[in-house]
Amino acid sequence: MNTVAMPSSVSGPAPYMPAPGDGAGPYWPGAALPAATGATAQPRTDALAQQGHHLLRDMAQAARGPAMAEVAAAQAEATAPPQELSGRDWVARFPTSRSLDDLAPGFREKATAFVDAMRAAGADVRISATHRPAERAYLMRYAWDISKGLIQPDRVPSHPNVPINWNHGTKVKSVTAAKEMVRAYNIVHRPALTSNHIRGTAIDMTVTGIIGKTMTNGTGQPVKIKTMEDLYKVGESYGVLKLRSDPPHWSADGR
Ligand SMILES: [Zn+2]
Repeated sequence: MNTVAMPSSVSGPAPYMPAPGDGAGPYWPGAALPAATGATAQPRTDALAQQGHHLLRDMAQAARGPAMAEVAAAQAEATAPPQELSGRDWVARFPTSRSLDDLAPGFREKATAFVDAMRAAGADVRISATHRPAERAYLMRYAWDISKGLIQPDRVPSHPNVPINWNHGTKVKSVTAAKEMVRAYNIVHRPALTSNHIRGTAIDMTVTGIIGKTMTNGTGQPVKIKTMEDLYKVGESYGVLKLRSDPPHWSADGR
């Protein structure tokens, strides 16, 4: 979780903040219609086609375009799962993982080796977040945007795995439901659609009891940990980089 330092006495979910450098992220790609398939009419190459073809082709395309769009819309409607109205019930779904196993291949092995080495040295390592599902990021982002009036509820792009209906029929009801979600998620800044947590390349963990211990670094050398900076260097040797502004947060690129 990329957050500013929070008192450890605060209970409940930590506030969500996007990682520095995450950016706003791309507009959601899942909303794109699948490419139309099927044969397209090929221009004939005989004399008739050479002369009168352009007009015929344009007319054919004009007729085919809307017809295909209608077919696509009908198909989408027929296969779309039933939609459930937005609201706080969504917040418990698509939870952020605390398991190292849910990290992306590559970073998973590095983070696991680093955590194992700290524990072998006698440290207490508590993991509070690893992979955040993209579905959760989508829900957080558009709950925020609707609650702030940044987007109309009926303009939110759909997500293939999230059958949510953001539009309650009136703007007041839609915004109220979105605000409930924002509160339940405890969001304090506009969530990003992409981040190291979403890519599975970040881990939030609280490490205690490591100062004064000797642990093995990424090249197999014993290193005495006198300060947290020493631990950050050892983390680096495993490919797990510290974001110093965010106490529990480590990642593949330090952001
Ligand atoms: Zn984090």
